[in-house]
Amino acid sequence: MPWKGEKNPYRIWLSEVILQQTRVEQGRSYYEKFVETFPTIHDLANAPEQQVFKLWEGLGYYSRCRNLIATAKKIDTEYKGNFPSTYEEILSLKGIGPYTAAAISSFAFRLPHAVVDGNVTRVLSRYFGDATPIDSTAGKKLFAKLADQLLDKDEPDIYNQAIMDFGATVCLPRNPLCTECVQEQDCQARKKGLTAKLPVKEKSIQKRQRWFYYFIVELPDNKVYIRQRSEKDIWEGLYEFVGWETDQATYINDIQIVELDFIRQLFGSQSLTVKHISRLYRQELSHQTIQGQFITVSLKKAPPALKDWLLVDKQQLSDYPFPKFINAWLLDPSPAQSLF
Ligand code: SF4
Repeated sequence: MPWKGEKNPYRIWLSEVILQQTRVEQGRSYYEKFVETFPTIHDLANAPEQQVFKLWEGLGYYSRCRNLIATAKKIDTEYKGNFPSTYEEILSLKGIGPYTAAAISSFAFRLPHAVVDGNVTRVLSRYFGDATPIDSTAGKKLFAKLADQLLDKDEPDIYNQAIMDFGATVCLPRNPLCTECVQEQDCQARKKGLTAKLPVKEKSIQKRQRWFYYFIVELPDNKVYIRQRSEKDIWEGLYEFVGWETDQATYINDIQIVELDFIRQLFGSQSLTVKHISRLYRQELSHQTIQGQFITVSLKKAPPALKDWLLVDKQQLSDYPFPKFINAWLLDPSPAQSLF
């Protein structure tokens, strides 16, 4: 991987932020695009936000992108573009938690801070045969302490990389390669037949169900309405179409769209033509399930209720960063069903 053995703290930070919750294969191309487009923190800090969001598009977790921009600006102004070099300063930066601070300070500055991520806690829980839930307060403290005790203080960079790689390639979440493992003789989970039961997690996440119905409102000049989401919610800073959200499914095929209160409020008595209704789209986030449909309607004139919305040419939609959920429809709007 291009970030392996990297000593540049800016690049390490970029790779860590991109790789959080992202598969390595997917993260790699994003990392390369970011490094190429913004070779230095100064470049990133001074780029138009829309360009950064556009590059981030598809990675999800947009609050991370906002933190990335805020931190780049802070380092550019307060540290003259030089990444801070102490663990405490790094940890104080927006969007950087103990794991990323330990990764940057150990890999770039060889400071003795142990990384504790999912791979590391899995290895430790199994090696010590400890069933303390890894997501409990007690578990977080315990595994952080164990990780710190095991750290090779002289070569924290090599040790941290090794234990993370070990978790990612040998002590796998499912079907760990115990027969090939160099720790097999000492591993408590292996001795007690507990490898499939460890690590233990306390919480099982109850996902919130959200339904979005997006209306692509077209005017005769081939323009459509979009807006930038500003609420403290998913997709903050990204763009969307005229939307209507519910917490349960509305079977949009089975209802008279023109009779929806939402539509009446937006378009008043102006008649609209429903051109297409899409299939159901679905996206899983870590704590939410997003589902919904896209309904293309055309109007003869601009409705007053949308006067604050951006009217853009349909051909220019690709200039704007949209959430993955909307991009899935933009890239593949079929099979749209014709109503008539
Ligand atoms: S023996 Fe198996 S469970 Fe134990 S550390 Fe090695 S791979 Fe992980």
